[in-house]
Amino acid sequence: MQEMSRRSLFSTSALAGAGVMAEGLWGGKKTAIAAATGESIRIPETQIPVAAVADVVVVGGGPAGFGAAMRAARSGASTLLIERFGGPGGAVTSGHMCVTGEGGTFPLHTEWVQGLREEGWLFDAWKAYPQLPGNVLVHQSGRWSFYPDDGAYVMIRMLEKASVKLLFRTLFVDTVVRDSTSGDESIEAVIVENASGRQAIKGKIFIDATGRADVVTRAGAPFKSAGDEKGLPVPFSLMYRISGVNYDKLFEYQKSDPALWKAIAKARAAGDIPEGLYMPYQYVIGGGWGGYSGCPQLNMCAIRGNGEMLVWSYSPYRLGLNPAENGFDSSRGEIEMRKLNIAEVKFLKKYVPGFENAYQSGMATAIALREGRHPQGEYMLTRDDIINESKFPDAVLKRTLGDPADTSERRMPRVNEVGELIHVKAPEGAKPRSYTCDIPYRAFLPKKINNLLLAGECLSCTHEWFYGYRLIPWCMRTGEVAAAAAVMAIKQRITPKEVKWTSGYYADSPG
Ligand SMILES: Cc1cc2nc3c(=O)[nH]c(=O)nc-3n(C[C@H](O)[C@H](O)[C@H](O)COP(=O)(O)OP(=O)(O)OC[C@H]3O[C@@H](n4cnc5c(N)ncnc54)[C@H](O)[C@@H]3O)c2cc1C
Repeated sequence: MQEMSRRSLFSTSALAGAGVMAEGLWGGKKTAIAAATGESIRIPETQIPVAAVADVVVVGGGPAGFGAAMRAARSGASTLLIERFGGPGGAVTSGHMCVTGEGGTFPLHTEWVQGLREEGWLFDAWKAYPQLPGNVLVHQSGRWSFYPDDGAYVMIRMLEKASVKLLFRTLFVDTVVRDSTSGDESIEAVIVENASGRQAIKGKIFIDATGRADVVTRAGAPFKSAGDEKGLPVPFSLMYRISGVNYDKLFEYQKSDPALWKAIAKARAAGDIPEGLYMPYQYVIGGGWGGYSGCPQLNMCAIRGNGEMLVWSYSPYRLGLNPAENGFDSSRGEIEMRKLNIAEVKFLKKYVPGFENAYQSGMATAIALREGRHPQGEYMLTRDDIINESKFPDAVLKRTLGDPADTSERRMPRVNEVGELIHVKAPEGAKPRSYTCDIPYRAFLPKKINNLLLAGECLSCTHEWFYGYRLIPWCMRTGEVAAAAAVMAIKQRITPKEVKWTSGYYADSPG
């Protein structure tokens, strides 16, 4: 009975804060869980152990955190990497993205891809299945795929060789911030939770590579919420694997139903397509057409062969979820996407030849977020910087981007709510082109906090700029740049904000 009360009490207060209505048992009676009361509680001050001290502390082990930790350690800094899941790779591995392209873009990315290749773990679906190119169901073209755990394994091997101290299954939860003489503040330690309990990790420089600016937020530094002017972030995904697909049969069927719209229409008429699956895709970004459909859709990528595919499934906009910033949205996102994924597998098995013996063979560890909060940096990149091709004296990287207003993924097939294949058309008179964009060092420097650097998806930029930039090799590269700046600052005994980056575009140093 006591246990039941404790649980009820917990859910009552937790849900109330988020304005969620639900029912619970209270003293044996059914009661409604209250909507938001604005109530808060005080956590007593407490003493916790300092578990480690490092020169550079990287929070988040995705491509950006991996790049940052590798560069810091290879430059001689004692480096500690904190990651909430059981291995590195972020959206690429824990999120089951499992593909990468642009091999050769940057040396570290190439080294990782090469590690996978040497093990025989890279799969070139286009060689194995010459029928795939041009297949409207297939999202990835000309890229390599691999199993998530293989991708993480190669990263771990590289991190260990570089002597990075790894702290997995560890959630970053807070910062201890101290005033500095310059008026700005500095992080003295980050607070983490893991099997040892609550601990502090001290460092000289911290790098926020959480993909959603968790460190910036907890340190009280300013940020813009994820999403466009309507508050719609780029959809997240809960990727899943489907195995036992008979490709030959599927390809044969696609001759008469390329994007499966006939099968979808039939299933819809029979009530086998739940609301939210294969919904209209329309999404406006930067004043034009573009962006992701915001709805689950058939969008697959072959991995390794043996009839295995990864399925991309986008969260429906109509749910209005922002999981990067709201715990209840995050939980609901997982639940809704699981339901839609399973519904999709059932549809494929029942209606699409080639999937008769297929089965769902694994969902990602967590929903993978395409967009989180955008920290306000000493410079925040905007769409104007794309279309004006802004140049900066402190440029560290050069990135070719499209204008988000005209760079939709319109090559990709879409199906509408009645299951018809539709193509996204460019706005009248639009002439998509590429823009060569500088990334200034100041975009790595969050406002307010002196000893924190930004990397990967946390780089300071708006929704529109972010949209085109956020690919794996680039996130890895920005991690390296952040770490190079951290090491410069430590060596010169100055803060990252005092580092004068006038040496031009970042070039790799040996090792
Ligand atoms: C579904 C999907 C499909 C994509 N497709 C492509 C593609 O085809 N090609 C491409 O190049 N890119 C693609 N991307 C983009 C690419 O995956 C990202 O650009 C890249 O993963 C971003 O790297 P990151 O390190 O900045 O963030 P993430 O990959 O998100 O890594 C952040 C890491 O921080 C950890 N973390 C977060 N908060 C905490 C905390 N509080 N405590 C401890 N750890 C924490 C997370 O667990 C995660 O490991 C895709 C992304 C998604 C989501």
